Amino acid sequence: MVIAEAPATTKFSLDLDDEQLQLQKWVHEFARDVVRPAAHEWDEREETPWPILQEAAKVGMYGVQFMGHLQSDPAGLRLSIAIEELFWGDAGIGMALFGSALAMAAIAGNGTPQQIGEWAPQCYGTPEKVQLGAFCVSEPDAGSNVGAMKTRAVYDAVKDEWVLNGQKTWISNGGIADVHVVVASVDPTLGTRGQASFVVPPGTPGLRQGVKFKKHGIRASHTAEVYLDDVRVPGSCLLGGKEKLDAKLARARQGGRTGKQAARGTFEATRPAVGAMAVGIARAAYEWALDYAKERKQFGRPIIENQGISFMLANMRTEIDASRLLVWRAAWMARAGKKFEGGEGSQAKLKAGETAVWVTDRAIQIGGGIGYVREAPVERWHRDAKIMTIFEGTSEIQQLVIARAISGMRLP
Ligand SMILES: Cc1cc2nc3c(=O)[nH]c(=O)nc-3n(C[C@H](O)[C@H](O)[C@H](O)COP(=O)(O)OP(=O)(O)OC[C@H]3O[C@@H](n4cnc5c(N)ncnc54)[C@H](O)[C@@H]3O)c2cc1C
Repeated sequence: MVIAEAPATTKFSLDLDDEQLQLQKWVHEFARDVVRPAAHEWDEREETPWPILQEAAKVGMYGVQFMGHLQSDPAGLRLSIAIEELFWGDAGIGMALFGSALAMAAIAGNGTPQQIGEWAPQCYGTPEKVQLGAFCVSEPDAGSNVGAMKTRAVYDAVKDEWVLNGQKTWISNGGIADVHVVVASVDPTLGTRGQASFVVPPGTPGLRQGVKFKKHGIRASHTAEVYLDDVRVPGSCLLGGKEKLDAKLARARQGGRTGKQAARGTFEATRPAVGAMAVGIARAAYEWALDYAKERKQFGRPIIENQGISFMLANMRTEIDASRLLVWRAAWMARAGKKFEGGEGSQAKLKAGETAVWVTDRAIQIGGGIGYVREAPVERWHRDAKIMTIFEGTSEIQQLVIARAISGMRLP
């Protein structure tokens, strides 16, 4: 068999470039020195960690410019790299820092350049006045099934205003955000194709927070219901503008393709990022378990000398590396404008989410008693990991997306 000689230079590489490496180091140091030491306190307090957000804003790690820098990587990896490091520090605080990115992604993905310029910075504010964004899709009867959404948006042509009514639930930063991006149904007969995204500006009357949830994990991230009672927003708050929406609705009514759907488009863009969150948590737990297995002695030797433990660690490492590669592939594909023909964004989120739950469970096992109590961080990582198989589409919904992509069929 003749094996072709490898060319002297090859285009494919998994080496990070200097800028990516610098970013990784910078975010890692912040995660190690600022985020980790505060993690236990904010998990117990179950509150938004405002001082950490302010600190991050001060050093340039929370803000629209930082997000712009992460998004502008030609290889598409900066966002995943930064998220992995921050979530390695702590997932609750990480989510408080990255919760606004969902709203920003919705604005960037659906808005006009003018709308992006006006609203994206307001999702973050300034180091002096830190602000938050929230992305409101889920409802009590519309979780996985976004098409069942009941929140309505009705156009008042006389005043050129939209009137929003409905109830949202499980919203990160819901009710405390400065900018809420609300997905609502304009024409319920069209399901997801009849939905649009609206910016609700700060202080708009009629939007209020309902129950704030007490959660299993990521407890430093605020999650709450949001009620919308006759919320009036200017016509200019419809993301993408009315002309585009009218054309989309007309196409949908004729049974044609409508292009991007309000919520789905945002989730497709953010799923690799959620995968990166999961990789960060899993890596934290794996590193902890590896160190502990080398230190902890039973039967006169470190527990890692038992193959049952060392193989567990070998498998943990393999699953984490596989997850990261899927995340990076999806992030690279999204940046390069490649079509997710095999549901690659969902593959990344599915694999990384399930891996985070499995790895943190194994880390507790390796810890034994110390893995199970709050004196060590690993029980928190296990609680935090579980959300990665639920939000932004459950693992089952990711499987559905992948199955549809590979079969080319509208599987139910
Ligand atoms: C901490 C937290 C933060 C969140 N943040 C936000 C946010 O900022 N904005 C937002 O809009 N939403 C947010 N969510 C909502 C989240 O996206 C939903 O919880 C999620 O999409 C699942 O919806 P659901 O809870 O209604 O579950 P359901 O849809 O009721 O699902 C229940 C179970 O049924 C399964 N299932 C449903 N349909 C199918 C099917 N067709 N095939 C197989 N299995 C199926 C699901 O996988 C799941 O196991 C958040 C949720 C949490 C818990």
